[in-house]
Amino acid sequence: MSTQDDGRIIAPGATIGVLGSGQLGRMLGLSARRMGYRVATFSPDHDTPMGQIADAEHVADYTDLDAVAAFAKSVDVVTFEFENVPFEAAEAAARHVPVRPRGQVLHIAQHRRREKDFLHAAGFPTAPFEHVPDRATLDAAIARLGVPCVLKTAGFGYDGKGQMVIKAADEAEAAWQAIGAGEAVLEGFVDFACEVSVVAARGLDGAFAHYGVTENRHADHILDVSIADGIADRATRDRAIEIAAGVLEALDVVGVLCVEFFVGRDGTLVVNELAPRPHNSGHFSFDACVTGQFEQQLRAVCGLPLGSTARLRASAMVNLLGDLWAHGEPDWASVLADPDLKLHLYGKAAPRPGRKMGHMTVFGRDGEDAASRAIAARQRLAWGG
Ligand code: AMP
Repeated sequence: MSTQDDGRIIAPGATIGVLGSGQLGRMLGLSARRMGYRVATFSPDHDTPMGQIADAEHVADYTDLDAVAAFAKSVDVVTFEFENVPFEAAEAAARHVPVRPRGQVLHIAQHRRREKDFLHAAGFPTAPFEHVPDRATLDAAIARLGVPCVLKTAGFGYDGKGQMVIKAADEAEAAWQAIGAGEAVLEGFVDFACEVSVVAARGLDGAFAHYGVTENRHADHILDVSIADGIADRATRDRAIEIAAGVLEALDVVGVLCVEFFVGRDGTLVVNELAPRPHNSGHFSFDACVTGQFEQQLRAVCGLPLGSTARLRASAMVNLLGDLWAHGEPDWASVLADPDLKLHLYGKAAPRPGRKMGHMTVFGRDGEDAASRAIAARQRLAWGG
């Protein structure tokens, strides 16, 4: 049972507590420090991306609710930077300080069945889906949806982990084993033209601000390139923003939330998933907007007015994965030779393949120009100059 959020304003000088300690927390922390806040992080790991820049790094398991309570008592407000924090941890924190967004948002967004049920019940468009609580229900679900379809774990999946495309009914058993033989959701395969997202914020007073519609190109299920304002069709753009505003309102979000969409070849939008926090596809805003998504998250969770999301320049973002380290430390000077490029590295020690180590935001005449420059810069890194 949580205490009611009393709607208090958290003024500069206070301490922001963050459940999670990855790059999203790091960038929130950097924005918070710039505005005179202290920051504290809670996660099971040491020397983390956020821990390196935080005033305090609390290290304990998320299931250690006494440790969570002690953490909450040491800060003025709690938020989270990734959705796989157990809901119970958010609830435990909420007994002591406001948790924003409220734990219920986390509870819904961290579990595909609950997320799909919420979207469906609230009338937001999704791909057709079936709940698959156990192996016995999978074959009938495949028969109802048809192939191809996509089997996804109900909980704790990200970047395409825990999902398998099923192209024929006899692949059911292999797919079931591959996702870990646990509760799942089966989705119809969407033959989309592109993937887009809307990162948006909602204040304590219900104010809404969004970062437009970003086009996202993936490689191996991991976000590769994001182009700000990368969608030309105005009706699709307006509809995506309208859906995002509706989702934040329906969930009573205080903070930042990203809605990821598939865009059909006829412009039809379906919601793929929700991320109740700043999102990789909004990283461009850190450098390219009057108020970046992390400062916006800070403003929202502190009960302050939201800032302008106006663009300073046309931009695109490319991720830097651990694969770039295959032949040693990348040649950073070669990318910084482009004066319109902003380099972000997250302070992660081990550059494993597929691990997000950093990103670059590059400016250009327009989004496509910026994307070409960003991709070219990354190639210079990979090729050693
Ligand atoms: P997710 O982890 O659900 O965001 O999925 C990761 C990626 O897998 C998406 O960005 C899509 O490229 C692809 N994908 C997921 N679900 C579907 C689907 N129902 N139909 C087609 N592609 C999908």
